Amino acid sequence: MSTSTVPNQQVAVLGGGISGLVSAFRLLQQGVGVTLFEASDALGGLGGTFEYRGAVMEQFYHVMLNSDGPLLSLLEELDLAGTIRWQETGMGFQYEEAFYPFNTPLDLLRFGALTIPERLRTAVGAAYITKFVKDGAALDGITAATWLTTIFGASVFEKLWRPLLTAKFGDLFNTVPAYWFWSRLTREKGGAKEVKGYVEGGYRAIANALASEIVRMGGEIRLKTPVLSLHETADSVRVHTESHWESFSAAISTLPMPLLQKIACGKIHGAVPQSDLVYQGVVNVVVILKQRLQPYYWNAIVKQGFPFQGLVETTHVVPLEQTSGRHLVYLMNYCHKDSETYNRCDYDWEFQAQKAIRSLYPDFDQSMIEEVKVFRAPFVEPVWPVNYLADRPEAQISGSKVFLATTAQAYPRVNAWNTMVEIASETAVKVCIELAGQTAPVVAVDELTLA
Ligand SMILES: Cc1cc2nc3c(=O)[nH]c(=O)nc-3n(C[C@H](O)[C@H](O)[C@H](O)COP(=O)(O)OP(=O)(O)OC[C@H]3O[C@@H](n4cnc5c(N)ncnc54)[C@H](O)[C@@H]3O)c2cc1C
Repeated sequence: MSTSTVPNQQVAVLGGGISGLVSAFRLLQQGVGVTLFEASDALGGLGGTFEYRGAVMEQFYHVMLNSDGPLLSLLEELDLAGTIRWQETGMGFQYEEAFYPFNTPLDLLRFGALTIPERLRTAVGAAYITKFVKDGAALDGITAATWLTTIFGASVFEKLWRPLLTAKFGDLFNTVPAYWFWSRLTREKGGAKEVKGYVEGGYRAIANALASEIVRMGGEIRLKTPVLSLHETADSVRVHTESHWESFSAAISTLPMPLLQKIACGKIHGAVPQSDLVYQGVVNVVVILKQRLQPYYWNAIVKQGFPFQGLVETTHVVPLEQTSGRHLVYLMNYCHKDSETYNRCDYDWEFQAQKAIRSLYPDFDQSMIEEVKVFRAPFVEPVWPVNYLADRPEAQISGSKVFLATTAQAYPRVNAWNTMVEIASETAVKVCIELAGQTAPVVAVDELTLA
């Protein structure tokens, strides 16, 4: 449904994850030309997949929620909504040597890691947060650690919340605002039942559908084409790849801020907001099994010295037809890309994953394992500092024609495809408004071969 409101303009989109794909799709719907640059050989970014014996599997566990409005609307547009499989899921909690189901108020009252008064206080505190705290923005200036200690008391914080925050943000958990925590808690347990969804064909099907639409509307997608630098002149943004400079009317970057800062030259370099934002990376081990391992989609793990903070069995949601009957267990460790943990060799992680499963499930039979794969991502979760709302990057770099659709803008929303669809769509609108305001169209794709 191209409306051709901004003709004769060409925009560069940097990155072929969900943010880049949606940015390109929305611009093309408005009649703006797009060239999308993706560094790797595949689309999807963190929602990327791999093939195992003909079956498509997620590199990192990915599902959607039935409250994911912008993502579900996009899937309607792409004619994929009818293929979503919704599944009620449950959660478990491995706390030191004991395992607890963690789904109902009764489960909380039986949660032996806390004393009975602590369990009662936790139940009251959780109800207070989800039912009575309506203005999350007021929590932007308070750390989650301080807020949770006030609500739940120091002992519950130390036993429960501190390990969970550390699992996600490492030693920097202490900077994360209560607003982020509130947003997350109210998103995931907003409904009475937890229901998760997965599109037939997986996240690759979404990326492929967007790519087909982009090409159908005249956009160009270039894989294996990292953008090496970005300059801005008086009337264009110049994109440098291995062999070319090309000029565009504007650019949208979906890169993590430190990566954008690396390629931004001249006046943009000093203007990149949050250029030193710290991100947690992740090491994610996928264990491909012949049988189901355990009853829950998600299991939090708080266990001294244990190398993983969670275990996710995605085939409680992902249909077994897609995995040719195989069951997928993901074990993850969120850590900084420069840490020793992140840089341990794959072989070590494969070994640790198998050992971890054996220790959690003593009846587990090693012959159930068919394959183990290790995936890493260096820039996953921004470690939000307090008062981030005021410093959160705007859609447009000030005084420039470089726009942003990146996870650094997600706060306080959860860093997820749903949020990125919303952000990318909003940024594309802002680009169109900017371009429509230009008096003379910029000459598009002015190629200068460097060599
Ligand atoms: C373990 C894990 C579990 C997750 N679970 C879920 C979930 O269940 N549900 C959910 O909705 N979300 C989930 N997420 C979050 C989700 O993956 C992200 O929110 C989303 O993928 C971010 O998309 P993006 O396009 O902004 O960034 P990315 O996916 O990181 O895409 C950025 C792209 O830019 C490319 N790039 C980098 N540098 C350059 C360059 N110089 N030139 C050109 N291209 C470049 C990269 O190759 C990449 O493809 C999960 C993430 C992880 C890691």
